[in-house]
Amino acid sequence: MSYTYDDQNIFAKILRGEIPNKTVIDSEHTLAFEDISPQAPVHVLVIPKGPYVTYDHFAAEATADEIVDFHRVVARVCETFDVRSDTGKGCRFISNAGEHGVQEVPHYHLHIMGGRWLGRMLEKED
Ligand code: AMP
Repeated sequence: MSYTYDDQNIFAKILRGEIPNKTVIDSEHTLAFEDISPQAPVHVLVIPKGPYVTYDHFAAEATADEIVDFHRVVARVCETFDVRSDTGKGCRFISNAGEHGVQEVPHYHLHIMGGRWLGRMLEKED
């Protein structure tokens, strides 16, 4: 089995500059931008520039440089939006993957949400 990347997904189009985004941080291997439909006062998406479908795909196949760069951008987003868990009130990191994870955009992205109390992690199954 292998992961199949669809380069027509909306985040691939953002990375190619075909559709606009509200960029927060643009680094060598990573882009952070504001979610178009924020679920909290802070809602930023962090994506690798490489063609990775999900977190597990990225974790399995990204280079060490890509993995380090991605996580340093996450830290910089937390600093920028004052949602660090030491100096601020913290946040939630979410990455939906695949069918059961109810992933809408098939390009790996980490949601960083904060700025309000976010409640418990999951609802019971419906
Ligand atoms: P997920 O369900 O984890 O795949 O989440 C996809 C996220 O992408 C949602 O929170 C959407 O609001 C967000 N989104 C979709 N299109 C755009 C866009 N053009 N710019 C920024 N965020 C987007």
